[in-house]
Amino acid sequence: MIAAEAVSKSFGPTEVLKDVSLGVRSGEVVSIIGPSGSGKTTLLRCLALLETPSAGRVTMHGKIISDGLNGPEVRRAAARVRPDIGMVFQHFNLWPHMTVLQNIVEAPRLVRKMDKAEATGLAMQLLEKVGLAEKRDAYPARLSGGQQQRVAIARALAMTPQVMFFDEATSALDPELRHEVLRVMRQLAEDGMTMAVVTHEMGFARNVSSRVVFMDQGRIVESGAPASFFDKPQTERAVRFLRQIQ
Ligand code: ATP
Repeated sequence: MIAAEAVSKSFGPTEVLKDVSLGVRSGEVVSIIGPSGSGKTTLLRCLALLETPSAGRVTMHGKIISDGLNGPEVRRAAARVRPDIGMVFQHFNLWPHMTVLQNIVEAPRLVRKMDKAEATGLAMQLLEKVGLAEKRDAYPARLSGGQQQRVAIARALAMTPQVMFFDEATSALDPELRHEVLRVMRQLAEDGMTMAVVTHEMGFARNVSSRVVFMDQGRIVESGAPASFFDKPQTERAVRFLRQIQ
C-alpha cells in the first residue's frame, strides 16, 4: 500500500537513512525496531510525509507521493493522500484548549467536511473503542498520559486513515500506563488496520506484528516474521541487540 523505495536521508553531512526500501502491504502490521539513532523515526517520518527523502521515493498505491524533488505532480499526489495517513507521536500533542471531543472532531470537520452531528457520532464511537467515552468533555491536562495517548489515537482514526504510523507511542508513559495504549494498538491490528510501528516494546513486536524490521546505522539489516527474527536472528548485529535488551 505504502512503500519507501531506495530512500536515503541526510541531515547536513550526516546520512541517517542509507538506501532503505520498505513496503507495507494492506492489513500488515510492521514493527520497526533497532538501537537508538538507527534511523527508525526518520524512516517512519519519510513514509508519513513529515520528512522529504534526500534520494529515493515514497509511493502509495504505486503513485509517487514524495521524492525529494517534490515537483507539482508529486505535491498534488501527496496532498490527496495526506488525510489517509494517520500518525501517533511519542508526545501526544493534543490541543490543550480543546476538550477531548473537540480534539477529535476538528480534523474530520475541517478536512473531511463532515457535519457536526456526523463528526460527533464518529468521535463518540472512537472514544468507546479506546475506552474513554466518559471523558468527552474533559480537557487533556486532566487526563493521564495513557488516556491522552488513547485520545490521540482516536483523533488519528477520526480521519478514517488507510494506514496508521506509531512513533514510540508508549515510550513517554509509565510502565503501568503502557499496557492500556498497547491494548488499543493490538485491537486496531486485530481489526485489520495497516500499521507501521516504531517501538521498543518487544512484546508487541513479537506477538502482534506480522513482520519485524530491524534497523542499524541507517539500514534495514533484517526483516522477517516475528518468531523467526526473535528465535533465529540471522545477523550478528541482531543477535547482539536482542541480547542487550533482554
Ligand atoms: P531512537 O530510538 O533513539 O528514537 P531512531 O532509530 O528513531 O532513534 P532517528 O530519530 O531516526 O533514530 O535518528 C537517527 C539519527 O538522525 C540520529 O543520529 C539523530 O540525531 C539524527 N537526526 C534525526 N532527526 C534530525 C534532524 N531533524 N536534524 C539533525 N539530525 C537528526
